[in-house]
Amino acid sequence: MWIDLHVHSTASDGTDRPERLVQSAQALGLDVIALTDHDSFAGLAEAGEAAVAVGLEFLPGLELSAHWGPAGPDSHPVHILGYGCRVDDPGLTAELERVRRGRQERWPRLLAQLAGLGLPLDPAEVTAQAAAADAIGRPHLADAMVARGYVADRDQAFARYLRDGGPLQDERHTPSAAEAVDLIRAAGGCAVMAHPFARGAEAWIGLDWLTELAQRGLFGLEVDHVDHSPDQRRRLRRWADRLGLAVTGSSDYHGRGKSGHPLGVERTDPAVYAVLRQRLAEQKGRL
Ligand code: AMP
Ligand code: ZN
Ligand code: FE
Ligand code: FE
Repeated sequence: MWIDLHVHSTASDGTDRPERLVQSAQALGLDVIALTDHDSFAGLAEAGEAAVAVGLEFLPGLELSAHWGPAGPDSHPVHILGYGCRVDDPGLTAELERVRRGRQERWPRLLAQLAGLGLPLDPAEVTAQAAAADAIGRPHLADAMVARGYVADRDQAFARYLRDGGPLQDERHTPSAAEAVDLIRAAGGCAVMAHPFARGAEAWIGLDWLTELAQRGLFGLEVDHVDHSPDQRRRLRRWADRLGLAVTGSSDYHGRGKSGHPLGVERTDPAVYAVLRQRLAEQKGRL
């Protein structure tokens, strides 16, 4: 079984529509995908219907923006994947609305800072890049910068301007990682820490805080991810073993939006997927 549990669509910052994503996965020969758009369930209905039509197994998901550490300059952004959440859960719904409101308030501030760096953009140039999206993210700003010819691609836009800890002051509302795990669990879902060591996070993610998340009911760690080296994967596997956490692997596919992450490039062990489904069934999650 070929299983990819981390995929983005146009409902957030991917470039393929949910239906197209499912069709591509089926054509490639994958057996299972989970759609995990940032802070939104907006693509799940279309993907679920398309999956039934082509005979692909589909797991509803999301990738919740969160933070680790005290609020303010010492806080680090982290991503928590939630699988099988009930989409009408009141607590999770209310928090997703706050997170999306935070996104909507953030991007005009980022535009003003870019203008200050001599890179003006019209708001309509950004919204045009996010036509099907539930909320605007930095990748949409990157796309508008590419369209203007300021940078060659999303990667360059991030490397020069948009990266975490880069030249822009980028603050918005997110729950803490612990709150994110609690919200996902309360909605019947299973929480997996996405790409724990990606982009320098190894410097501040320690076993101590993963222990705290494990005690709150974290289900697993996304160990097999393109952004992790073989060494980092070995270390994360040891931590997962010690903490009794499942190990997943996934592509983090964004369509044309992210190079080096083709659909299905990393996979999750079918035995782990079976445990995940079993857990969701017990918790009355959404399967
Ligand atoms: P946002 O949702 O606005 O916080 O932006 C997060 C998105 O930006 C995710 O899709 C990331 O994959 C992408 N991203 C974050 N950092 C980088 C980077 N350094 N290079 C390319 N993409 C990035
Ligand atoms: Zn993304
Ligand atoms: Fe992520
Ligand atoms: Fe992602």
